[in-house]
Amino acid sequence: MRFSRYFLPILKETPKEAEITSHRMMLRAGMIKQQSAGIYTWLPLGLKILRKVETIIREEQNRAGANEILMPTLQSADLWRESGRYDAYGKEMLRIEDRHGREMLYGPTNEEMVTDVFRSYVKSYKDLPLNLYHIQWKFRDEVRPRFGVMRGREFLMKDAYSFDLDEQGAVEAYNRMFVSYLRTFERLGVKAIPMRADTGPIGGELSHEFIILAETGENEVFCHKDYLQLPVPPEDVDFDDAEEMQNIVAQWTEHYAATDEVFDETKWNEIAEDQKIAARGIEVGHIFSFGTTYSEKLAAEVTHPDGKTRPVHMGSYGIGPSRLVGALIEAFHDDNGIIWPKSVAPFDLGIINMKPGHGACDELSEKIYAACLKAGKDALYDDRDQSAGAKFATMDLIGLPTQVIVGPRVAESGDVEIKDRATGEREVLSVDAAINKLMAEI
Ligand code: ATP
Ligand code: MG
Repeated sequence: MRFSRYFLPILKETPKEAEITSHRMMLRAGMIKQQSAGIYTWLPLGLKILRKVETIIREEQNRAGANEILMPTLQSADLWRESGRYDAYGKEMLRIEDRHGREMLYGPTNEEMVTDVFRSYVKSYKDLPLNLYHIQWKFRDEVRPRFGVMRGREFLMKDAYSFDLDEQGAVEAYNRMFVSYLRTFERLGVKAIPMRADTGPIGGELSHEFIILAETGENEVFCHKDYLQLPVPPEDVDFDDAEEMQNIVAQWTEHYAATDEVFDETKWNEIAEDQKIAARGIEVGHIFSFGTTYSEKLAAEVTHPDGKTRPVHMGSYGIGPSRLVGALIEAFHDDNGIIWPKSVAPFDLGIINMKPGHGACDELSEKIYAACLKAGKDALYDDRDQSAGAKFATMDLIGLPTQVIVGPRVAESGDVEIKDRATGEREVLSVDAAINKLMAEI
């Protein structure tokens, strides 16, 4: 992409309304534009990152055996009356009336709807286990939308729902999602620690929130230091091996880790002082097993091998891709801007032509850009007629992991500079050596 044709509205001023780094940087880097409180347009750069985050989540859900569907954002109030949540949900739910006076709502979550999908088709134990998920916008009329996309009112969620014959099956389904989450966050480049969470009014035993440690996090969290170096299951981990799944979950739940909502002083005090982490964290995922709560209310039943019909056991598993974009910035930035992990970087490479119109600068920049196009590398080529200083600042702000800088001094001798955004290290190479290196490494 040539920068001269790209819609990347960088802000010079630091927006006053933004309280935290990620929100400020997302606005300054032209990633999002606020439309109303907690409601945003995703601009090209922001959208690219959001899509990459989604893709990793999707790949890992699929790997764990979940099926992607897409349910609508608008739901009928009747379904929520069946579960009893229409009145219980309160003011966070946006309620709408259509032209015929039918009550609708903008979905804050999809337990009811997915249970309705399930009961329409699945009647027998032979069709279980089943996991259905979608990645869809949600609306919750949060009392205090803030921190940009981290606590929005309209936000993207990946929500998966598992259906099993009995409790044992439900635990196995939970474990698969648990492992899938470990892999997902690892691929996103972050440490997200599974912490025991409140199971809320629905009750039930199994619930973990996946939390990224960050000063600006809204949750107070407590955990054992070992969580920072536990191994994450490799990509060929066998999701069909229930014992292996159980062992991984056991390893990842062995030590104490909990949010303040379920803080247990006795267990906390058992940890050696120098092994304790008391910090703030951002909840990026939440998994939850809730048994037959919804299936009983909505009559989602299956026939068992003994011929009897019983309500199906369910669990739900959420991740917030839009919140994650903010959380990743909280985890990866410096004074100059964002430093994207490679897996979600909006472009593979940035090319800075320091002096458009200068023969050697143009020639070498174009040569590298052409090599990227040919090799299928996604490069952002800053070909604009602007000061070199402004280009450096912009490239640092938007956080591409690798930059190629083509300046008149080195270009005269056929050389270019490669800069690593994270370390700031620079290396001067001949243009051909640079192309070989970049095509092999990025
Ligand atoms: P929180 O405690 O932060 O309000 P929640 O418990 O209401 O979150 P869940 O219902 O578990 O959230 O939703 C699943 C995931 O959706 C969360 O882990 C989070 O990543 C994301 N999410 C929830 N609410 C928001 C929001 N207002 N803005 C952005 N993402 C959100
Ligand atoms: Mg939660």
